[in-house]
Amino acid sequence: MLYSEIADVFDRLERTSGRLEMTSIFSEFFKTLDPDTLRKVVYLSQGKLHPDFCGAELGMADRLVLRSVAFISGMPESRIDELWKKEGDPGTIAETLFKKRKQAALFSEPLTLDKVLRNLTLIENAEGRDSQDKKMKYLSNLLMDSGPTEARYLCRIVTGRMRIGAGSMTILDALADAFGTKEDRPDIERAFNITCDLGLVAETLAAGGVDSVKRMKVAVGSPIKVMLAERLPSVPLILGRMGGRCAMEFKYDGIRIQAHIGGGSVKLYSRRLEDLTSNFPDIAAELRKQCRAEEAIIEGECVAMGPDGSMLPFQNVTHRRKKHGMDQAVEDYPVRMFMFDILLADGEDMTLRPFEERRLKLAETFGLSEKVQLTTLEIVGTPEEGEEFFSRALAVKCEGVMAKSLSSEYRAGSRGFLWIKYKKDYEEALTDSFDLAVVGAFYGRGKRAGKYGALLMAVFDDESGRYCTVCKLGTGFDDAFLAGLPDMLDGYLSEARPSTVDAEMAPDVWFLPTVVLEVVAAEISLSPVHTAAKGAVKEDAGLGLRFPRFTGRVRDDKGPEECTTMSEVLSMYRMQTQDK
Ligand code: ATP
Repeated sequence: MLYSEIADVFDRLERTSGRLEMTSIFSEFFKTLDPDTLRKVVYLSQGKLHPDFCGAELGMADRLVLRSVAFISGMPESRIDELWKKEGDPGTIAETLFKKRKQAALFSEPLTLDKVLRNLTLIENAEGRDSQDKKMKYLSNLLMDSGPTEARYLCRIVTGRMRIGAGSMTILDALADAFGTKEDRPDIERAFNITCDLGLVAETLAAGGVDSVKRMKVAVGSPIKVMLAERLPSVPLILGRMGGRCAMEFKYDGIRIQAHIGGGSVKLYSRRLEDLTSNFPDIAAELRKQCRAEEAIIEGECVAMGPDGSMLPFQNVTHRRKKHGMDQAVEDYPVRMFMFDILLADGEDMTLRPFEERRLKLAETFGLSEKVQLTTLEIVGTPEEGEEFFSRALAVKCEGVMAKSLSSEYRAGSRGFLWIKYKKDYEEALTDSFDLAVVGAFYGRGKRAGKYGALLMAVFDDESGRYCTVCKLGTGFDDAFLAGLPDMLDGYLSEARPSTVDAEMAPDVWFLPTVVLEVVAAEISLSPVHTAAKGAVKEDAGLGLRFPRFTGRVRDDKGPEECTTMSEVLSMYRMQTQDK
């Protein structure tokens, strides 16, 4: 298959902003592909060669890519540098220059998908002292045979900038459209949620139809999307939702870990599917020791512990996320794993079993030790019992409690009222904190002149797959953070408003939604300028945050699709207005 066919589809998708239209472009294209090619195309559409959790990155530096572009286009590097300062995206620069190329090189031949994948794999695996030169060589070899559009996407893929605006939800829609019906969509989505492998789901569906997708099961080595909680502001409301009785657990303030144990090894994944095994070698070893099953997948929260055995706040456990000096960090920052769920036990998929049964299985399957424990849990049937349990949680420095429906399955990848979080913050402020994606920046004035002074922040609408603005954020930044903003954000600069962003405000620069920051606010109010939940409460008004403030926490454990959703903001707004 020619790579130009795929690049043309990416181009059409990028020019489209409607999800329905994107779905139909993908769906028509998917139908023309054999299962194996479909799998590869699905990964490429996300800028990858493998599913996210493999962790392998093409990661070519912009400068390196620009040198290849200079070499192939014959343009002096100094001129390319100027363009780079203006454009910020090597893909656009390559496209512009390649349009001016009279003809492709003398010996060029049409670029095939196979060749693209072969060279990209070589780039991914290049190692050693001359790895940069090798990467340049493999990329140049592809660019030599590329037309402008092909070059644009090659440069974006190798620099990690491949955002055509089609998230995983659009691809799932397209898969259902191409190989099933609307009714099959939930089964296809569940298969993705329990495998986190969009390419594998696509290939299975194209090869064996919806029935084979329904047979897909959780497996050691394939992370499962985490189940998430809704929030409510009081114990009586929680009990009301739970039918009068539920399990309550302490809500620990650490890092969520999904542990995959099997085949003599243990892998620890973050909720964002990063492999954190080397950050918590002590926990991995202890889990392996305590596990009585051949194979298991469990979840728990890793919490930093003080010298006196008390729990320390979240910031302390982040020392374990360093790249270097891990041996020392293991010694300096002891952690404990509080296990709260089991998703696979000895070949048995536990995700469809009720919580009560899973909890018993968890306790049966693991021995306990100082490092590996179960979360503190109590069955609660009255508001008094719930309040008392909540106070006990706060007394040991937990954030609050997690209420869990005793009869509920593990709904991978979904947020609902089967789990409800109740935090101390909810009593003090009207709202919980928000995790928002940075979509734009405004230059500052006075002391902040010429630098980013405020950011345009957005929530994610998981229905439409779009980002909608909720506030302009200019408070809570210290000088060091502001100085570091270009480094953090400029890799995601976008020439124009990204096609997935809905905004009425016009910032000085736009970013592809990537970086997530934690923000608190005095309240949620109706807003004439923000696009979140536009028209849901009042015609022509959206929802915005009043007096938003950055908490200092960059949520690098969350991707943009995992930030606070529009429906959460809407339910927090309703919770807040009811309170008043
Ligand atoms: P969310 O995970 O809901 O997107 P968040 O990352 O901002 O939000 P919180 O709102 O503070 O985190 O609460 C949810 C998180 O609490 C879970 O993802 C998990 O990491 C953590 N947690 C702590 N204790 C428990 C527990 N007993 N059961 C489930 N999760 C727990």
